[in-house]
Amino acid sequence: MADTLQAIRGMNDILPQQSYLWQFVESGVRSVLESYGYREIRLPIVEKTELFKRSIGEVTDIVEKEMYTFSDRNGDSLTLRPEGTAGCVRACIQHGLIAGQVQRLWYSGPMFRHERPQKGRYRQFHQVGVEVFGLRGPDIDAELLMLTARLWRRLGLTQVNLQLNSLGTAPARAAFRDALVEYLRAHEERLDDDSRRRLETNPLRILDSKNPDIQSLLAEAPVLSDYLDAESSDHFAQLCAQLDAAAIAYRVNPRLVRGLDYYGGTVFEWVTDQLGAQGTVCAGGRYDALVEYLGGKPTPAIGFALGLERLIGLLEQQQSELPADDPHLYIVALGESAQREGLLLSEQLREALPRLRIVTHCGGGSFKSQFKKADRSGARYALVLGDDEVASRQAGLKPLREQSEQRRVAFEALPQHLAELFNY
Ligand code: ATP
Ligand code: MG
Repeated sequence: MADTLQAIRGMNDILPQQSYLWQFVESGVRSVLESYGYREIRLPIVEKTELFKRSIGEVTDIVEKEMYTFSDRNGDSLTLRPEGTAGCVRACIQHGLIAGQVQRLWYSGPMFRHERPQKGRYRQFHQVGVEVFGLRGPDIDAELLMLTARLWRRLGLTQVNLQLNSLGTAPARAAFRDALVEYLRAHEERLDDDSRRRLETNPLRILDSKNPDIQSLLAEAPVLSDYLDAESSDHFAQLCAQLDAAAIAYRVNPRLVRGLDYYGGTVFEWVTDQLGAQGTVCAGGRYDALVEYLGGKPTPAIGFALGLERLIGLLEQQQSELPADDPHLYIVALGESAQREGLLLSEQLREALPRLRIVTHCGGGSFKSQFKKADRSGARYALVLGDDEVASRQAGLKPLREQSEQRRVAFEALPQHLAELFNY
């Protein structure tokens, strides 16, 4: 026998028993975003490789080693999007959405990075991304953080903690980078291979190292906040004051940097210690230089991305009572006329009560085998039809999740009866 085909490593199937949780999270995210006036933009999954090289930066982990890049049949180099900001900015410039206008946008979908798969880290994963164009002040930074805090509340999540930093302006970052490089050069023998390489290419990323030896070396290193320019410090102070006023707790983490080149000014991460090593569920910040860099008019911008797999993992961990999508009713019907009646009756019930989940048994079989399937479906009640029930136009209604008697309900009375039963 041939080997059965398997999904690609790090790319997951989301099975029916999981998908309702995804829908719960997605609809929560959507409704919170709508309540702030954000509008959805839908973008291609594939873009020209050049776009990601230019926007994310040649010397980032993503571009150096994580992209799914291929040439198409014309020989053009294309890449499966590793993140959504680049494509969103590209689309906004292309369609003239951001010149002199404010845009509050969001998108959602799969992203692709060739990383080592582990819990919370996959090769195809899903993000909700939010981008705001045309606003420079700390008020919009605060709005984004209030929006995310509201989202955690909406989903019932706790223990997601906000970390904040400011990367300052480009000259401030450059001065800090020089000081950092000088310090690390003086301790070169303590650097690991990765950090040594980054010292040449992208030294700020060393701050992000997960290696404990590097972390202890960094404890004595120069701190970015000592190099901040006055404008950035002021912006950051205003943001902090606004968060205090909104009672949103945060920790200033002077070593917080972002992996992508285009960030400057405010950066943030929402982190939990309940997911093991992959604890960042949401990350973002300002990228005021990117729009111009990609050929648009200079436009301030800020955004973030949520990792849906991590968010859902957290939800599963924290909530015992998750919303379920089990059927309300499973229609059991024995005999030809009862089967015909069952199909019609379930149509009428859907017409009257469109939000009920009603599964009509198909495929015949004995009462016993139909009840087994009803039970396995997770339905709360079975609606039972046999020759007698059809003749008397009264269905049997049998609870499947509790010990109590089957009762008889006239066909015409069913919508009313079920509405009360299910608090419809
Ligand atoms: P990390 O430091 O965990 O690699 P990152 O800085 O590469 O994260 P971003 O590019 O900022 O991540 O992506 C935003 C969010 O998307 C992350 O905070 C995380 O929740 C999620 N994410 C990123 N990469 C993956 C992945 N490979 N698998 C699952 N989720 C991911
Ligand atoms: Mg990464």
